[in-house]
Amino acid sequence: MKGYAMLKIGESGWIEKERPKCGPMDAICKPLAIAICTSDVHTLWEGAIGERHNMILGHEGCAEIVEVGEMVKDFKPGDRVLVPAITPDWNSLEAQAGYSMHSGGMLAGWKFSNFKDGVFSEYFHVNDADGNLALLPDNINTVDACMLSDMVPTGFHGVELADVQFGDTVLVIGIGPVGLMSVAGANLRGAARIIAVGTRPVCVEAAKGYGATDFISYKNGPISEQVLAMTNGAGVDKIVIAGGSVKTFSEAVKCLKPGGKIGNVNYLGSGDVIDIPRVEWGVGMGHKQINGGLMPGGRLRMEKLGALVSSGKLDLSPLSTHVFEGWDHVEEALFLMRDKPADLIKPVVKI
Ligand code: NDP
Ligand code: ZN
Repeated sequence: MKGYAMLKIGESGWIEKERPKCGPMDAICKPLAIAICTSDVHTLWEGAIGERHNMILGHEGCAEIVEVGEMVKDFKPGDRVLVPAITPDWNSLEAQAGYSMHSGGMLAGWKFSNFKDGVFSEYFHVNDADGNLALLPDNINTVDACMLSDMVPTGFHGVELADVQFGDTVLVIGIGPVGLMSVAGANLRGAARIIAVGTRPVCVEAAKGYGATDFISYKNGPISEQVLAMTNGAGVDKIVIAGGSVKTFSEAVKCLKPGGKIGNVNYLGSGDVIDIPRVEWGVGMGHKQINGGLMPGGRLRMEKLGALVSSGKLDLSPLSTHVFEGWDHVEEALFLMRDKPADLIKPVVKI
């Protein structure tokens, strides 16, 4: 079979590989549509998770099942499915402890395009099919379905990590597709005011639609100063970080109220140390929580988030700004995600 792979850090291309084997609890799937993620960019061009040779890229897509193992109960060949980017081993101790995304070691629930071949391939392997796949609802198209692999569950996880409550003032730093879903999630959770940080006009427009009430640009000076100025010096209750760098945390701590919470889902591709400003962190006693996490995967989450889309409460159509048809366009879509033109939110390829 053919797959689009990371050949080594900084180099990618099509390769031939053997079709993966299906274990007793697994499924083999063929993509119906796939999407490119900023994480593919960090992995391939920044080498953020280290060197990988001939590893097929991609962890976002929806698919049709072509084969299932003999122990799989709820899925069969021909089923159309949502596929989460994170596919934990549900019988692991880490999953039993509540951290399925770290099943088998830190971040090891993230298997596609990290520990095994990803989904930019004619066929791909899904471990624990009953635990990880979900049927694709009839009224969700394959392009929107790709947004359920990672953008919705990750953006919403930022909101969960920040513990957004009714009436909160929430700062969302970064409004690419992940941050946009954090805006949507904060809005669904009842935030009163949502201040969004980002500049691409297409993202700003989409953020308005998802419930952002105020906008600032990180290019107009320190984020913290702008946020303090627009909140009369009070700062915000909660912060989701979905963009920026290791330096962004210091800005966040400076404009967070005591007792506030930060939820980071940004993938920090470079830098060794994260600064926490001593005084603004209450000289160690400010009750300003900093949480950072990989999104949870698995079937239940896919089914529940899929239900939000199916019911019409969450419209994913603004996210997919560039839709292509056919495998030939994978490279073009990947390079678009690297270059981030002004009109791009997310590129998707229908197969
Ligand atoms: P994008 O690059 O599309 O968006 C990044 C956003 O951050 C943009 O709004 C950008 O603004 C803004 N930004 C850039 N620089 C700064 C800065 N210095 N300060 C503040 N904001 C800044 O990324 P995605 O939405 O696709 O992904 C966001 C992050 O989430 C990525 O790092 C990605 O790898 C990660 N991720 C994490 C996952 C997880 O499970 N934890 C899963 C999937 C993705 P502008 O409008 O100017 O471009
Ligand atoms: Zn992704």
